[in-house]
Amino acid sequence: MPETRFKRIMLKVGGESLIGDREYGIDPQAALTVAQQIKAVHESGVDVAVVIGGGNIFRGVAGSKNGIDRATADYMGMLATVMNALALQDALEKVGVETRVQSALEMPAVAERFIRRKAIRHMEKGRVVILAAGTGVPYVTTDTGASLHALELHCDVLMKATKVDGIYDKDPMKHQDAKRFKTLSFKDAISLPGVEVMDTAALAMSSDNHMPVMVFELFEKDNLIKAVNGEDIGTYVSNDVETTFA
Ligand code: UDP
Repeated sequence: MPETRFKRIMLKVGGESLIGDREYGIDPQAALTVAQQIKAVHESGVDVAVVIGGGNIFRGVAGSKNGIDRATADYMGMLATVMNALALQDALEKVGVETRVQSALEMPAVAERFIRRKAIRHMEKGRVVILAAGTGVPYVTTDTGASLHALELHCDVLMKATKVDGIYDKDPMKHQDAKRFKTLSFKDAISLPGVEVMDTAALAMSSDNHMPVMVFELFEKDNLIKAVNGEDIGTYVSNDVETTFA
């Protein structure tokens, strides 16, 4: 685990973080919980960029299984992330955090278009930047968007918020004896069977460009700030660590 705290983070929030107890869509209360966590870390002086997913509304792969052209379905998924970005913006502003939404697909009535230097400037001015529509191209997911934007915005780490408290050697929902990794090398993250971190494109991009990834549970109180401060929670993935269990 790194001992120094991060100065600028890329936070990947899956669409499911906004779903609350529902089966579909957005629960404003869940959005507020996410916003409170972001507020705490932002108030401690950390620059925050957020890439938001769309899985609570629409995923391209699922749409294409139902007969929609894959690329079209992926664009629909990207549009879903724009809705989530607006919901998260609303929640962050309700808790007093200034934000800007930038979208990789142009949608001038609701979001700025993604402009790298402007996104950096927003963070320098103390705004949380919410990045919608992932990379703006189909056949990838918002994990790849988060990796790409983390690199170009010079973030220190990509923090992937999930529903489980780190990366396990097998699915902890299905296997009682699943063990959590404390640290994981990118090599193992990509090659070990049963290990699911994020899609391979995102992992390869992060590994090739030395962007560490931290996977942790967002809904555990104060977890984001603990993770940013280098406390031992979740799983830290890097080229510079050996794989160890917690
Ligand atoms: N998507 C895409 N390109 C991107 C980002 C997202 O095509 O750069 C589409 C893809 O169909 C994806 C959907 O948007 O399934 C929603 O994003 P994702 O599945 O990553 O959401 P999450 O699982 O994080 O909620």
